[in-house]
Amino acid sequence: MSASVGRSNVDEECPVCFTSWDECSDSLQTPCKHTFCGRCIRRLLQDRNTCPLCRNPIDIEHCYPPGLLDGFKEKFDVEEGQLNEQFNYNYGPKPSKRQLITKGKRIFHPPYEWYKIAYNCLNLDVDMNWLSAPDMDNQWPIAYHGTLNRYVSSIFHEGLRVRTGDEVVHGQACGQGIYCAPRIQDACKYSTPTKIAGKKYNVVFLVRVRPGSYTMWDCMNMQMWVITNKEDVRITGVLLKPA
Ligand SMILES: [Zn+2]
Ligand SMILES: [Zn+2]
Repeated sequence: MSASVGRSNVDEECPVCFTSWDECSDSLQTPCKHTFCGRCIRRLLQDRNTCPLCRNPIDIEHCYPPGLLDGFKEKFDVEEGQLNEQFNYNYGPKPSKRQLITKGKRIFHPPYEWYKIAYNCLNLDVDMNWLSAPDMDNQWPIAYHGTLNRYVSSIFHEGLRVRTGDEVVHGQACGQGIYCAPRIQDACKYSTPTKIAGKKYNVVFLVRVRPGSYTMWDCMNMQMWVITNKEDVRITGVLLKPA
């Protein structure tokens, strides 16, 4: 097997198992632009953390479906400085053994099987305790906001806001506000697939919610947090999962 550094092998086949890309539904591309079947690259990275083709150091958390990152930037007219790729994260499959993680005194339910495209939160003119305070008191808990594909661009660029009139998708059951769910599968019920780089993805916004600012509702068998002031919710990333 041979490949020059930085040259994409995306048009061929998996260099490990020789499955053609037409037959592989879960291919992943490394930051050095080399593509493998998800299962091949996961197995190889268990023993070492370098790209099998070019030996660049890589980790599975930064391997994404080919074209997803560039396709997202193109589709949503992402500007320089809006994203911070070092915080991108491929959450991967649900582990068999799970540790309980809390963020801002709430249980964090990680978005397994989703790919995070991280916002550049360092742009915000505020101290960073809401994201990374070592003491839980100042940290903001994590939630998810699903939306119809036609709203993704405006939310991405302008943030979440309380929708009115015809835009309200949730009905009046829990009152007006910005709706977020602590479990991504609940938020995803409100998302409609959007096409990026030729594939359909569900899109859900990853957010942090100011402690004490929200009302908790058990709505149609799921938990929702309803926030009435848009200053109390901050987007930290966009999550994508093949639909
Ligand atoms: Zn393979
Ligand atoms: Zn490589």
